[in-house]
Amino acid sequence: MSNFYIDVIKKDKRFKSTQTIKDISLLEPGTRAAVAKLIVLAHQAGHEIRVAETYRSQSRQTQVFKAGASELSKVGCHGYGLACDLGLYHNGVYDAKGEHYEFFIGLCKQVGLVSGIDWGTPNQNHTFHDWDHVQRIPVFRQNEVFAGTWYPPVDYDPYKDTPPLGVHEPVHETIHHAHHLKHRHSRRGC
Ligand SMILES: [Zn+2]
Repeated sequence: MSNFYIDVIKKDKRFKSTQTIKDISLLEPGTRAAVAKLIVLAHQAGHEIRVAETYRSQSRQTQVFKAGASELSKVGCHGYGLACDLGLYHNGVYDAKGEHYEFFIGLCKQVGLVSGIDWGTPNQNHTFHDWDHVQRIPVFRQNEVFAGTWYPPVDYDPYKDTPPLGVHEPVHETIHHAHHLKHRHSRRGC
């Protein structure tokens, strides 16, 4: 099996880094292109957004978990180059208010990303909003990625995909979405 995770991420010297990484070259190419488009579209709409974190190692997730800064011990889509966190700025000042990120939902749909606000399924009642988070795949594909049995092709469209037989959307995204940091959670008021 050959894919971006195996060929690039696992071989990168930052694979086990405990630092915050903002390098978009560690985003899977389809994810990278979609994030770039999202930033351009946001700017055209008058919003300044910047990349806050791209790849996150399991080592970093374990560290922040042990420090009590995250509720979850396992790294999620960030660990596979399939997720990115973005910061909203006004005149260079970071905006931590979650509700101000709601425009991400519409932009994500335009560029083929899933927003951590509605998880791509706006008709479901979501108890968990990860305001600054975008990812390349729907929640129903995550376990396959984590198990190493599937990885999205570059031209993957999460809105044309359907859950494999027997796989249902989990009710609580927090179970599968393992990267979330508490300080963001509290600062964003969700
Ligand atoms: Zn994230």
